[in-house]
Amino acid sequence: MTDEERYNEIQLRKYQEHEALCKRCGACCGVLDGDPCEHLRKTPENIYECDLYENRFGLRKTIKGEPVLCVPIRNILDKSWWGRTWCSYFRRLT
Ligand code: SF4
Ligand code: SF4
Repeated sequence: MTDEERYNEIQLRKYQEHEALCKRCGACCGVLDGDPCEHLRKTPENIYECDLYENRFGLRKTIKGEPVLCVPIRNILDKSWWGRTWCSYFRRLT
């Protein structure tokens, strides 16, 4: 294995570990405030998924048509929003 391949493998593992922290509770996408992002979907297993996850960042709309800016979760962990204390990433910081 080359150094580049080893580096890429480590980066992929870190990314997967980071992603695995998420409980898919939907709180960061507005599921608790009654007007979630229109791209949020509830699965039969009662978890939430984004229907454009790979391209999610940017200006989006809620179900009621309100603008919502989708940003990386680390950008909003120091802000106040419904369900922040449920979030695994927030809990890891506190
Ligand atoms: S676009 Fe962003 S805010 Fe909307 S459901 Fe996807 S991850 Fe959540
Ligand atoms: S609030 Fe945190 S744990 Fe819940 S879906 Fe969003 S990032 Fe994942």
